[in-house]
Amino acid sequence: MSRHSRSEREHNRISRRNFVKVGGAALAGVAALAGSAVPAAAGTTPSMFPTPPRQDAHIQSYRTLGRTGWRVSDVGMGSVPLRESSVVRYAYDKGVNYFDTAEGYGNGAAERAIGEAMQHMDREKIFIASKCRIRDDDNAETIVDRVRGSLERLQTDYVDAYGIHLASTTEALSHPGYHAAMDQLKAEGRVRFTGVSYHGPGRPDQASMADVLCAAAEDGRFDIMLLVYNFLNHEEGDRIIAACKANNVGTTAMKTAPGVLRWQPVDRDNLTEQQQQYIERMTGRGQSREAALERLEARSKRQRDLYERTRPFVEQYGLLTEEQLRLGSIHWVLQNPDMHTACIAFTDFDLVDKVVPLSGTQLGAAESRMLEECRLALNDQYCRHGCAACGASCPHDVPVSTIMRYAYYYEGQGNEKYAMTLYAGLEGTDASACTDCAGDCAGACPHGIDILPNMLQVHDLLTLA
Ligand code: SF4
Ligand code: SF4
Repeated sequence: MSRHSRSEREHNRISRRNFVKVGGAALAGVAALAGSAVPAAAGTTPSMFPTPPRQDAHIQSYRTLGRTGWRVSDVGMGSVPLRESSVVRYAYDKGVNYFDTAEGYGNGAAERAIGEAMQHMDREKIFIASKCRIRDDDNAETIVDRVRGSLERLQTDYVDAYGIHLASTTEALSHPGYHAAMDQLKAEGRVRFTGVSYHGPGRPDQASMADVLCAAAEDGRFDIMLLVYNFLNHEEGDRIIAACKANNVGTTAMKTAPGVLRWQPVDRDNLTEQQQQYIERMTGRGQSREAALERLEARSKRQRDLYERTRPFVEQYGLLTEEQLRLGSIHWVLQNPDMHTACIAFTDFDLVDKVVPLSGTQLGAAESRMLEECRLALNDQYCRHGCAACGASCPHDVPVSTIMRYAYYYEGQGNEKYAMTLYAGLEGTDASACTDCAGDCAGACPHGIDILPNMLQVHDLLTLA
């Protein structure tokens, strides 16, 4: 006999089918906003986002990418989850001409997808920026080899920019092997410009995003950079953008929509596939089924509490899908003319058709108000990429922000395998340390995030069975 009333079951069933996922925040990118699709109440503002998608839309705005002199589309393409070359071609056909990629995205799969699309694009009309992680044992020779590998996968003779992927200290900006390799490759016509990316520290010995990227802007050797920038996380980005403007460096944005919120109800008699897998993982680790279910329910309750807090603006603005807030977040980024292109991780045609219409358009007053209310409601739920403010409070040096970022890849980008692989290879202590911890980090987050329950939740999510 079910412990739940019929109306509760019906509510949960509808919730699963139509849950409102809001791309905005999340404790670690996994908390969730959901519940049933919200019926538009009398007097409710209709959604201000362009739905349905427009297949006839085309990029309307191109901006000069710093000293490269390139006119790049305000909406660019990121490629962390990219595996399909057809999406690259589709974005190109809509006028997107900036493509960000990296050796490490999908172990070269993203570069390969762009390479497969190359013969269908006018090479002279697109800007390709790739990059690689510089390892301790790298020198000019090994880096030249790795760039040649990127060129091969990209099926091109040259990349417009090749950068240091995730430079985590100011010293990393002066890696002699990287600069010697770039000098050689520029002389050969294989690389035109240099770049750097960073989303902030994962460990206490790493510098802040602003410290590294402002130093890179002033360094004089870097032509473009890739930084975190969204309406919930832009203070450091604003400083970096100002430094880039002063030094005529090109700016490109990642993580433009900071995550996904979802409330997933738990019906013990009717668990979802994901919940069932969770229970199996936990029981496989020796936990009782009852304890695993209670943990699942406690998580759901936290998510529900968050949902209730955000419900007023969800209803007011008629947010029916996660994409509506995601589009608002992207639209916010496009409003800054000194951010030259926003790299959007297009995974299908549909998303291209929804984002491209935002190009060159203004954020409306209602949209701005909605984002501000969202920012206030989610402030203590969204773990800032690259933040390390709570680091000193943890006796086990758990890299909270990094682990939360992996959860963002899992939930926010749907890149589950990638996120779990990253977590399995995490340098340092993972969140299993939180299981028996008294929670020394309580109160350490300046934004009010309750770290311990989030870390337990994320550990469950990301741990390979
Ligand atoms: S719960 Fe404990 S181990 Fe986990 S981050 Fe906080 S202080 Fe560190
Ligand atoms: S201080 Fe807060 S925002 Fe920063 S890493 Fe810790 S939990 Fe995230």
